[in-house]
Amino acid sequence: MPQSPSSPSPQAAGTSRLRVLFVSSEARPLAKTGGLGDVSADLPAALRALGHDVRLLLPAYRPAMRRAQEAAGGLRVASLALQRDPEPARLLAARLPGSGVPVWLLDAWRFDREGGPYTGPDGADWPDNAERFALFARAAAAVARDEADLGWRPDLVHANDWQSALCCAYLAAGELEGRTRPATVFTIHNLAYQGLFPAEQFWRLGLPPAFWSSEGLEFYGQCSYIKGGLVYADWLTTVSPTYAREIRTPEHGCLLDGLLRARADRLVGILNGADYRTWNPARDPHLAAPYSRRDLAGKAQDKAALQREAGLPVEPATPLMGMVTRLAAQKGVDLVLAAAPRLLADGAQLVVLGTGDRALEEGLRELQRRFPQQARAWIRFDEGLAHRIEAGADLFLMPSRFEPCGLNQLYSLRYGTLPVVRRTGGLADTVVDLAEGEAQATGFLFDEPTAEALAGAVGRALACYRERPQTWRRMVRNAMAQDFSWRRSAGEYLALYRRALAAREAPRL
Ligand code: ADP
Repeated sequence: MPQSPSSPSPQAAGTSRLRVLFVSSEARPLAKTGGLGDVSADLPAALRALGHDVRLLLPAYRPAMRRAQEAAGGLRVASLALQRDPEPARLLAARLPGSGVPVWLLDAWRFDREGGPYTGPDGADWPDNAERFALFARAAAAVARDEADLGWRPDLVHANDWQSALCCAYLAAGELEGRTRPATVFTIHNLAYQGLFPAEQFWRLGLPPAFWSSEGLEFYGQCSYIKGGLVYADWLTTVSPTYAREIRTPEHGCLLDGLLRARADRLVGILNGADYRTWNPARDPHLAAPYSRRDLAGKAQDKAALQREAGLPVEPATPLMGMVTRLAAQKGVDLVLAAAPRLLADGAQLVVLGTGDRALEEGLRELQRRFPQQARAWIRFDEGLAHRIEAGADLFLMPSRFEPCGLNQLYSLRYGTLPVVRRTGGLADTVVDLAEGEAQATGFLFDEPTAEALAGAVGRALACYRERPQTWRRMVRNAMAQDFSWRRSAGEYLALYRRALAAREAPRL
């Protein structure tokens, strides 16, 4: 039978080039509010570098359109077919600045406004988020079935978080009507964000009435968008193996653990990668002095520069702890505040960069007032300073209550700044405690989310720093040799994509 250009590739499950539609509500540098924006830029680029045809679908938020237009000097209309939707829209063709990954921007009036992807200039959620991301999901399903007249049909759709989850439900609904669909993968970047809307919203989605049940989109009387992915995607992933296990427990399952246990055979944890082009101490424009695993001399200069910038005594032998974080309950900043008198008892220094929760901001200011010779808090977002803290500190604190993957500990490892982390999620998967043996150790872990447990781990770290300098140097070198690159993670996604495709191509009995 002759092949039309839009039919699925015949050996998609083998070694051939895959066509993947990556659906996300963020992709750096066009739109980013958190880790999702990084993953959606870096993973498609890494998959393309491995030879695959990956294209992004992103809402055309006004600031994103502006950035894409500036980068390209104008945007081409790729499709008007979506004008038939109850919420008319069109697709614009763009490229992701930096990597050149092809992007379709979904242009509709609901995205064309000043403000953030999910919130207005006042910080409140857009009141029509339910309509905005239902439209986005319908458009994704249309592109996935080549109903948008693009002449391109993906083998697989990869949707991310609640904002794009419904596209898996729309594709499953279409299949019930006999329409073919690609394989689907849905990634949970943070289960705590679920896209919950009043029940009436379900009846506006145009999905089969049978999807309104606790086995479908209903969630304790509300309409849950994330369930569109959790229930209807062929495969589920999340961003670390430990988080994949944790979300199947009542403690971390956000009331979805039962569903995730039921789908455990289809749930895989794949670690995020770090962007080592941006985070490389040997070539970091933000640093006073570059350094590498072979030549660590620059790190001492970066430490002195950071102590100076913080207004703290410039003392090479004094251990310096760093922290860069959103100030949110998730991150355990309150544990640092509660443990601070113990952490600083022996004269160590602490610098913190973060913004967020007002009470935590005030707590950090108070800490600085109480320990002016030892503690410095910067309440702002500052990319360059984040780099200087990663380089200049000896220890990096990440006492998160939960952490789907975490990026800062990966940067810390690459910068030879030993992480002190709670044994949870991606932190547990990427940091090896000294107790495991000096030959592979890269940091210090603790279990209980308490100030005592944190102080205990920091105490062990400071003792090692002061009393076992050779062990410390060995751990720094171990840490800097770790490879959490996107190339590695992309290979794991690819293996999963092939598994998903093989499962769909297998004859049904
Ligand atoms: P999350 O995505 O949960 O906030 P991650 O550790 O995965 O946590 O990623 C946080 C990212 O945001 C890192 O790149 C970190 O350096 C950056 N970051 C957080 N707060 C700040 C800040 N105040 N200034 C600069 N960078 C920050």
